[in-house]
Amino acid sequence: MTEPLVKIQGLKKYFPVRGDKIFGEKKWVKAVDGVDLEIRAGEIVGLVGESGCGKTTLVNVLLRLEDPTEGKIYFDGHDLTSMSEKELRKHVRQNIQIVFQDPFWSLNPRMLVRDVVGEPLSVHRDMSTNKKANTVAELLKMVGLTPEGLFMYPHEFSGGQRQRIAIARALALEPKMVVLDEPTSSIDILSQAQILDLLLQLKEKLGLTYILISHDLSVVHYMSDRIIVMYLGKIVEQGPATKVFTQPEHPYTQALFSAIPTLDMNSLDDLHILEGSVPSAIDPPPGCHFHTRCKYAMPVCSAEEPEMITVGKDHKAACYLLDEVRTSKV
Ligand code: ADP
Ligand code: MG
Repeated sequence: MTEPLVKIQGLKKYFPVRGDKIFGEKKWVKAVDGVDLEIRAGEIVGLVGESGCGKTTLVNVLLRLEDPTEGKIYFDGHDLTSMSEKELRKHVRQNIQIVFQDPFWSLNPRMLVRDVVGEPLSVHRDMSTNKKANTVAELLKMVGLTPEGLFMYPHEFSGGQRQRIAIARALALEPKMVVLDEPTSSIDILSQAQILDLLLQLKEKLGLTYILISHDLSVVHYMSDRIIVMYLGKIVEQGPATKVFTQPEHPYTQALFSAIPTLDMNSLDDLHILEGSVPSAIDPPPGCHFHTRCKYAMPVCSAEEPEMITVGKDHKAACYLLDEVRTSKV
């Protein structure tokens, strides 16, 4: 077995709650609260969970855009948590890129596509103007845009085309991994399908690894090899995509995924199967964070946090129900 490309151990990210000292005690938003995770090179890992469960914070810490509160992150054998900004720039920043739903530069009316896509090259590579122009043209071609696009502004393009520009920019430095945070949420269905297929093609061609965050479970299902389900800062289940979709083990995953085939919707935002809303990450419920909304909750669930239990090959979930299944079989 080769080493995983990404290895995350005991990762926590707490944000201080300002001006909210209750009984003199400092309060924290526990956005990521003890995450262990491995990603192998070449995988597409889908990260799902309701809004506010910590998906974006997790990837921001992985990219060291935020410093972790606790825990370790290894990328390609390098310990990211102990790196200086200079070392990060040299070993990491070029190798992990991110594509957002709404790239900030798409709002900048003065930046030509040539400069948007070429900027990472200007910052990180010592290239002649000529070489850079050729590289940028190649990148545009790779994402299915014509060279005329070079001298246009991002806002002159459709949402789908802008996302192609974002992908071209993300690939400029030949990264090993690309984080896709809601990459198709703001574009029409047809372009969405085209972008997803482009991403799959590029992944094969360039040997990329993806982390895909999406509210749209059909997108996650279509794209992912493996699924990670988060709830209030913790991973509650992870496993091969087909397994997690067809045989979800955690009651939270079951509630999320039972919505797909039966109802005419597939966005987590439309999901009303679950009673109540996500509790606050400031003071998460004790024990299993999900117990307040779980129809199977038992006394132990509010008393102590369940451990991850292996339920199949590469398939794990954290739930006391599984504990019972396991012990009753013994
Ligand atoms: P998701 O991407 O799954 O919707 P986020 O990672 O954005 O979730 O947020 C997780 C939790 O952390 C939320 O409760 C959110 O309000 C909080 N949070 C995120 N970023 C910050 C920040 N910079 N300061 C304080 N709280 C934050
Ligand atoms: Mg998010």
